[in-house]
Amino acid sequence: MLAALQLALDKRLADGLLRQRRLLDSPQAEHIVTNDQSYLSFCSNDYLGLANRPELISAMQQAAGESGVGSGASNLITGHHRYHDDLERQLAAFVERPAALLFSTGYMANIGVLGALVGRGDAIFADKLNHACLNDGGYYSLASFHRFAHNDVQALEALLKTSTAKHKLIAVDAVFSMDGDIAPLAEYLQLCERYDAYLYVDDAHGFGVLGEHGQGTLHHLGLRSPRIIMMATLGKAAGVAGAFVAAESVVINYLIQTAKSYVYSTPAPPALSATLSASLRLIAQGDALRAHLYGLIAYFKVHLSCQKWRLMPSDTSVQPLLVGSNQAALALSAYLQAAGILVPAIRPPTVPAGTARLRISISAAHSLEDIQKLLQAIHQAESELPS
Ligand SMILES: *Cc1c(COP(=O)(O)O)cnc(C)c1O
Repeated sequence: MLAALQLALDKRLADGLLRQRRLLDSPQAEHIVTNDQSYLSFCSNDYLGLANRPELISAMQQAAGESGVGSGASNLITGHHRYHDDLERQLAAFVERPAALLFSTGYMANIGVLGALVGRGDAIFADKLNHACLNDGGYYSLASFHRFAHNDVQALEALLKTSTAKHKLIAVDAVFSMDGDIAPLAEYLQLCERYDAYLYVDDAHGFGVLGEHGQGTLHHLGLRSPRIIMMATLGKAAGVAGAFVAAESVVINYLIQTAKSYVYSTPAPPALSATLSASLRLIAQGDALRAHLYGLIAYFKVHLSCQKWRLMPSDTSVQPLLVGSNQAALALSAYLQAAGILVPAIRPPTVPAGTARLRISISAAHSLEDIQKLLQAIHQAESELPS
């Protein structure tokens, strides 16, 4: 087996697909230090710049002093701390749903929820560009798994129409992580009503940044229904770690009994929940942060003028610049890095073959000058890099 593993790694290297971890020597922020160099970074999902906020650092320190550093037992034994419980209530109130349940990561939430809510005889309908963990959740659930073309409402309806599944669950990203566009959730909800289906919305990239006060994509679109089960991660705009699911109380009560990644796992430390409660207050009061963020995004889109590469249609923090080949995306990323700017090249299998791109992630922590520097470097790369 070891020889086969080495062969697979060698092939990845030859194909320009070998991924390498960068060693980070600073907090996650818009300016980071890695490999002893400092860079302007457009790499993080910390869209509001909360990951290194002094208020949250002191909230975590204080909470650790009061609750210790470890949860010590699963939720159903003695691990469910008051800080976890408080945060669940605050999150449910914030997104205006009856109840919420914390998971230690978004990956765990998607696997646990899909595995619990549907099974053999049921069906999941999933966008082809969904995040990998929704696919894994579907696989793990043993429900039949149907993928439809990206954001294609008609293709989804055709699948629902012919489905004989007992329970039907549409599972989609709200904001697509490598594309930045928003799913047609209003249309999906109509289909749910027409075909007696339920809608599972993964709002990893909308929570905190979309909606009037950052409540997420569903608020942004004005959607509410008992048929919706929403998931959002807390390691992106919320700046900390973890995830939650918000839904009708019966759904949450059922998940507490049956979601295996909840039942058989140690919850994240209570101090993290206390930190997230403080983060949630910053999100709720973060209208100025969001206004600044959307100002930067609009500025970037208006001022990028580039023939060789195309900005994909997105109004969110995720601004992908479509390059095409893996090697060309790597070359552009390397060029920007030499100019002191980090932007990750995203390659298959994360995105479809031939659509390698730079995933430019804009945060409220950036300044206008940061965006101008990026624009200038991209424009320079276009004239200097070989076609
Ligand atoms: C990041 C992400 C996840 C996973 O969340 P983690 O908390 O990082 O495990 C799930 N879904 C989407 C769409 C994501 O972008």
